[in-house]
Amino acid sequence: MIIVMQRDADEEKIQHVIERVEGKGLEAVLLRGEKRNVIAAIGDKREIPTDYWLAIPGVEKTVPILSKYKLASREISPHTTPVRIDGNTVGEKALAIIAGPCTVESMEQTLAAAESVRKSGAVAIRGGAYKPRSSPYSFRGLEKEGLEILAESRRLTGLPVVTEVLCPEDVEMVAQYADVLQVGARNMQNYSLLDELGKYDRPVLIKRGIAATVEELLLAAEYILRSATAEVILCLRGIRTFEEQTRFTLSIGALAHLKQVTHLPVIVDPSHAAGERSLVFPLAKAAIAAGADGLLVEVHPDPENAYVDGAQSLTPEGFDQLMKELRPVARAVGREM
Ligand code: PEP
Ligand code: MN
Repeated sequence: MIIVMQRDADEEKIQHVIERVEGKGLEAVLLRGEKRNVIAAIGDKREIPTDYWLAIPGVEKTVPILSKYKLASREISPHTTPVRIDGNTVGEKALAIIAGPCTVESMEQTLAAAESVRKSGAVAIRGGAYKPRSSPYSFRGLEKEGLEILAESRRLTGLPVVTEVLCPEDVEMVAQYADVLQVGARNMQNYSLLDELGKYDRPVLIKRGIAATVEELLLAAEYILRSATAEVILCLRGIRTFEEQTRFTLSIGALAHLKQVTHLPVIVDPSHAAGERSLVFPLAKAAIAAGADGLLVEVHPDPENAYVDGAQSLTPEGFDQLMKELRPVARAVGREM
C-alpha cells in the first residue's frame, strides 16, 4: 500500500507516519517526489482498516499496490526515477550511453578505451575486473589490480566507472572503486548479493538473467530497493532461446513492457545479445526507438586481440559511428544525445 502525503505535510508529519507504519509491524519506505512525498507500507496489512491511516495528520489517501513488486512498480511513481552517475543521469531525456571493454586487461587498454568513449559522448566506462565465466579455464579478470586500473582511468579521464561485483564478500571493496555496481546476468538471482548491495550508497545496474522472466528481474530489483537510499538501473542483455544465429535473443517487447510497469530506468546491452559487431548497430537503434534510457556497449581499442568478447566489441571508430547513427533515432523518439 502507498500512503500519499498531503502537499504541505512537513517532515515531522512524515516521520510520524513512518513511526505508525513501523508500529504496525510493516516496513516503511519513504519516496520523495517533486510534488509530494509518499510512503510505501510493505507487509501484511489485511487487518488494518483504511480509516486508520486517513486519521493520521498529513495523510491524503492510501492506494493499494497491486503488483508483486512494490517498490519497482510504476504505481509508486508515474515518472522514471533517474539514477545519477557522477554529473549525468540515467532515466531523463538525455540518453546515457555506457561503453568500454568487456574486461580490464591493462592500464593502456583501459585508458585508451576510456579516452575514446568519453570523446564520443559516453557518460561512463564499463569494464569487468571480476568476470563471471562459463568455463573456469577462461580469463577471469585482473581482480583487485583491475579495480585499481579503473580508478586510475577515472582519475585521468574523469569518466565514472561501472564494474561488476560477483559476491557479497566483495561488495565493500568494489564499492570503493566503482561509481555503479553491476550485477551480471548470472547473478541476478543471487539474493544474498542483492541484499548486501542494498547496504551501500552506490547505484546498482542489474542485468536480466538469461533464463529469468521480467517479473523475476523486477523482484530482484526489489531486494535492493528495500533500502531507502537504493538506486537501481535495469539492463536487458538478451535471454537464451532456441535461436542460435544471435548469441542471445534481445526482447524489445520486454523493454516496452518494462517501460510501462516500472519507474526504474531501463538500459539495453546490445553487445552480449548480438555476439557480433555488425548486429550491435541495429539492436542499439531498436532499443533506443523502443524507449531504452541508455545502452551498455562493449568497445575495445583492439578488438582482434581482446581477451574476452572481441567479436562483439566495437572499435573506438565504430563506437563513434554508432553514436552518430543513434542521434537521429534518439531525436525521433523525443530523446537527446
Ligand atoms: C558484462 O556485461 O560484463 C557481462 C558479463 O555480461 P552478462 O552478465 O550480461 O553476461
Ligand atoms: Mn562481455
